Amino acid sequence: MLRTKEAYHERLFAMRPNIFIGGEKVGRDDSRLKPGINVLDITFDLARDPQWKGLATAQSTITGGEVNRWAHLPQNTYDLIQKQKLIRLAARRAGGCIQRCMGHDAINALAICTKEMDLANGSDYHQRFLDYLKTYQEQDLDGCCAQTDSKGDRMKRPSDQQDPDAYLHIVEERPDGIVVSGFKMSITQAPYADEIIALPTRALTAADRDFAVAFAVPADIAGLSLITRPVWLREKDSPNASPFCRFGVSDCIVFFDNVFVPKERIFMCGEWQFGRRMALLFADSHRHSYSGCKPAVSDILCGASALAAEANNIEKASHIKEKLSEFAGAAELAYAAGIAAAVFGEKTASGVFFPNEIYANVGRRLTGETIYHEYNLLTEIAGGIAVTMPFDADFEKGENKEALRRFIIRNPDLSPEASIKIWQFVENVGASSMASWYKIAGVHGGGSPIMETIALNIGYDFEDKKAVARYLAGIDPSLDDSKLRNLEPKLNQND
Ligand SMILES: Cc1cc2nc3c(=O)[nH]c(=O)nc-3n(C[C@H](O)[C@H](O)[C@H](O)COP(=O)(O)OP(=O)(O)OC[C@H]3O[C@@H](n4cnc5c(N)ncnc54)[C@H](O)[C@@H]3O)c2cc1C
Repeated sequence: MLRTKEAYHERLFAMRPNIFIGGEKVGRDDSRLKPGINVLDITFDLARDPQWKGLATAQSTITGGEVNRWAHLPQNTYDLIQKQKLIRLAARRAGGCIQRCMGHDAINALAICTKEMDLANGSDYHQRFLDYLKTYQEQDLDGCCAQTDSKGDRMKRPSDQQDPDAYLHIVEERPDGIVVSGFKMSITQAPYADEIIALPTRALTAADRDFAVAFAVPADIAGLSLITRPVWLREKDSPNASPFCRFGVSDCIVFFDNVFVPKERIFMCGEWQFGRRMALLFADSHRHSYSGCKPAVSDILCGASALAAEANNIEKASHIKEKLSEFAGAAELAYAAGIAAAVFGEKTASGVFFPNEIYANVGRRLTGETIYHEYNLLTEIAGGIAVTMPFDADFEKGENKEALRRFIIRNPDLSPEASIKIWQFVENVGASSMASWYKIAGVHGGGSPIMETIALNIGYDFEDKKAVARYLAGIDPSLDDSKLRNLEPKLNQND
């Protein structure tokens, strides 16, 4: 089924109120959540739009029917590239983070890791997960991914923490399920998701066994509280609000207080040896998702910078052209890394096609490194007006209204209305609470920069590079380049 956004809202607004904002319990129809719901709406609309059939939708390997691509397990390079294209498409409409990729990355991780656990231990998690995913696809559900634990003292392992709730953990095991407690934090879109998909956040030891837990629960299940921080733009309630102002996001502390998870929804229970694998599968899939969304964020920053240059009438200056070209580099190199990750991906034992970890990580690392620089480019081009411009109402009423219409003109070819809109947009893109969110998400989303360093130190073949140097330095007589040949592109749709 491809749900309408109206059906999504109906289900959402009927959920048990377990959302807290500023110390008050609120319903999911609270207006501060609406900007985030508007983003999710795009994902439902695109899937039902015939123009985007096959991009925003896919054929399910479980039901055989047409499903929303966010609920689909990628089977080949084509699927991964379609996902990347879809994220960029949707993110350009939402003005940035599309929020639904986290659930997609979580189901990929679960599909792959449950199979690998079963192969190692003879368990039956994989079929259990596929049964769950069937319903997820049939009902076109939206899941957020709750991976990041609050973690307490960063230098201590989960089992060494003073407060065991610093990491989500199993409190009790029963024949029909488990009881879990703990804090997950920075969880995007949890207050307007149907499901919370919980995964471990790190490598675990035998002592951490109770922290090796993965499952999915309805977002309003008994014992679960979502302490929510919504982010939105100042203009959102104005009748003249631009499309960009309709969108926002909410992040949560997801507090599990003795939540019962029925057996059929448990996908890891004590398999600490697979903690690292599950964590990395989500993270690497998510880093690949960034190769679609971050280029869209660059598109938006580039567009805002180019418009600011036009409004300042400095477009032809050589330093502006050079600065704008930097956006092209940032966006398209990340996008190219995503395509390379898809082309050089691998089929896993589960049948899910997984992006190449090296390309996924270098692409994500590049975007994390460039994000503040891109905001700096916008700031340099725009000047200081983004943080000093009068409020919108000053342009609409009061005795200075006409004077301000003259004040705002810099490029005589632009009307006062267009100039006002450009500078409001520049403020919203570059100097708002959303701008701060994108900067910090750009650095830490999908894992802090150190995580890409760790992933590359594990996965990148430094010995191969030493072999090149040894050969060229005259230490070794020959060079074995067979690895280059072995890296075969998977261009066939059925690979
Ligand atoms: C906007 C936003 C949205 C997000 N959305 C989601 C989401 O939907 N789902 C989800 O699961 N997560 C989400 N995250 C969380 C994100 O994955 C984490 O922020 C990231 O993994 C870093 O964790 P942290 O914030 O706890 O920072 P920390 O891990 O505390 O990192 C802070 C610093 O401490 C260092 N550090 C940490 N531990 C150690 C150690 N043992 N030794 C040495 N140095 C250490 C790090 O390298 C870093 O420099 C989101 C984050 C942001 C900012």
